Amino acid sequence: MKIILTESQVKRVLIEQGEETSDQTCSKSKSSAPGAFDKWKSLDDATKRSKAVSIKSDISNVIGRCVTEYTTWFSNPGTIAKFKTDKEKSVVKQIPSFLSTIKNINLSIGGPGGRNTVIAWVSNVNMTTINYNLPMIHNTEKYVGSSIYEITKHEMGHLIDYFLTKNGVKTYIQTLDIDSQQEYQDNYLINDKDQYARLSYLRQLVGAGPSDSGQVLLTKFMARVEDGTVTSPKFNMSGIQSKTPKKTKNDINTAKSIDSKIGMSIMVKGRPSINLSQLFSTFALTSGNDIWVSFDLVAQLNYTSKDTERMYYYLKLSPK
Ligand SMILES: [Zn+2]
Repeated sequence: MKIILTESQVKRVLIEQGEETSDQTCSKSKSSAPGAFDKWKSLDDATKRSKAVSIKSDISNVIGRCVTEYTTWFSNPGTIAKFKTDKEKSVVKQIPSFLSTIKNINLSIGGPGGRNTVIAWVSNVNMTTINYNLPMIHNTEKYVGSSIYEITKHEMGHLIDYFLTKNGVKTYIQTLDIDSQQEYQDNYLINDKDQYARLSYLRQLVGAGPSDSGQVLLTKFMARVEDGTVTSPKFNMSGIQSKTPKKTKNDINTAKSIDSKIGMSIMVKGRPSINLSQLFSTFALTSGNDIWVSFDLVAQLNYTSKDTERMYYYLKLSPK
């Protein structure tokens, strides 16, 4: 996809965004980039424009790569088999043509609603556009933070989720009430919507299959550590077996505490991986200074995204 911008498009690209939509999801970092924010602000229009055109072209290539990867994933018979009814399967088969409509890249200086730690976002009222907060991805000289590939993969995961939801297909089990934007922001780290988007990134990174077990996922992840794709300046990573189970995902405060311990120290190809650190913080426990990420719980997420026919058993006691 080659992008040629008209004058009016370029102007639109550089307009600061303040939109709030009913359902909006994003990649969010812990800290904003005030230095980069000021640098972008101080550039003259012509420089801004030429940098924006170049960044847009890079993002456009990345979108093409993500479309190809997601198309492969949703054409996998194992993925399609997780969708039970013929109606669901027919919706899944439309995903590749939906993905080909995602062509609009909106660059802004600042996040939606003044939330400047938002790196990128999408909304269910405009499902062909991915919005990027420029200072969070580029400091006017070079790309910063997580790779634009990683950010784009995450946002496209949300768009697929929106597409499926709009067509009556549930993609994952909703365990938290995040109907309002405030609830979504408060539970950002552990909400199911974002875990689903983060999982898509992990799957591609390790070459996961739709029904891989915890053991298989861990083996595949460790292969990426061994080949040097995944590194950490802060942690030695090893795969361990343990008789200690971790039964449930973390509550928001535990996840926040582990996320701050991991920080931006899990790297993929030398860039901090925000998806991995956030995904891991939800499914990890601490043991002394060590952090143990339960790949059984990550695999559970892999099984259930998507398999809503999975059943859970309760004894229900209702008042007479
Ligand atoms: Zn997100």
